[in-house]
Amino acid sequence: MENRKTIKTLLVSAAVLLVAALLVFVINDSLDKKPVETQKYCVAMGTVITEKIYSDKDASDVCDGVEKTIKNLEGVISRRDESSVIYSLNKNGKVKTDEKTADVISRCGEIYSDCGGAFDITVGKLTSMWNIGEENARVPEEKEIKDALTYVDGSLVKTNQGAVMLGEGQKVDLGAVGKGLACDYVRDYLETTPIKSAVISVGGSVLLFGDSEKDKKWSVAVRDPSGESDEYMGVLSLSDCCVSTSGDYERVLESDGKKYHHILDPKTGYPSDSGLKSVTIVCDSGFLSDALSTACFVLGVKEGEKLLRKYNAEAVFIDNENRVYVTDGLISSFSLTSEGYTLAGE
Ligand code: ADP
Ligand code: MG
Repeated sequence: MENRKTIKTLLVSAAVLLVAALLVFVINDSLDKKPVETQKYCVAMGTVITEKIYSDKDASDVCDGVEKTIKNLEGVISRRDESSVIYSLNKNGKVKTDEKTADVISRCGEIYSDCGGAFDITVGKLTSMWNIGEENARVPEEKEIKDALTYVDGSLVKTNQGAVMLGEGQKVDLGAVGKGLACDYVRDYLETTPIKSAVISVGGSVLLFGDSEKDKKWSVAVRDPSGESDEYMGVLSLSDCCVSTSGDYERVLESDGKKYHHILDPKTGYPSDSGLKSVTIVCDSGFLSDALSTACFVLGVKEGEKLLRKYNAEAVFIDNENRVYVTDGLISSFSLTSEGYTLAGE
């Protein structure tokens, strides 16, 4: 019931504000001669999906296809859906699945190793205890956290030709990559259609499919982490890539005058405290952009930048003092638009 109420609220705010619940959103499409824009809003993966498809005629059928693609993926990776692969994996400690899903788990393992465990999908026991963003969110007792931490170890997850096995008692949570992964699945789907240009936002992850006409780029707003959901502090000029943001403002629990956000440090079991308010990642892969945004949020600027070099990804980091760090490959695409922030190094 509560869930249905939340979804209804999400849909209403989507209709009214257009950009509600998005961390990164597209301000305009910069098209000179606009083709037909087909728009659709729906709710999946616990967030609002915004679809904008550009073509020479109505593309409602493709919009429906995009929604179906995302909902199918949700049916595989959801922790709560009893018919999902991840539900079954968490219940039985192992599962036989398709190569594609097993490959996602295995790529999560690579990122886990490369970032020294800052990103770790075996945080499942911890995240369901905190449950931040849900009705029954709470601050767990220290002892519970200590106990749950003994199950957090990404190196124990094994994959072999579609089979996935967890370590004893482990639970996985793909919340840190699901929305970015959805962008990749949508791109694969759009490539089977005649569509050449589209912008699909899945919560904090955005797919910029193709270039705008005449090689013009889209303007993607980077949300002001201290502002309302429609306020932004900078703009990225981009095309044909994926953009994901992790921020400390998206899902928050307030208890005894303290605020707790939903990105946990797998070393402590508590919300990460690396001095950042948000990290926005730009790269070719939605999966990577999402995984890296979570990893970099936990790592902080210095270690985060090192990780990004390995993956050829770019970022905008915003720290608690409102300093903005933009990686070299993105500087020429980024404009600061809010006076409340300063570019680091200036
Ligand atoms: P959002 O889900 O808001 O897009 P993120 O991509 O940063 O934000 O993912 C955060 C989610 O990932 C959490 O809600 C939780 O399910 C999971 N998670 C939290 N901390 C970690 C972590 N250190 N490593 C992997 N997954 C995490
Ligand atoms: Mg993420």
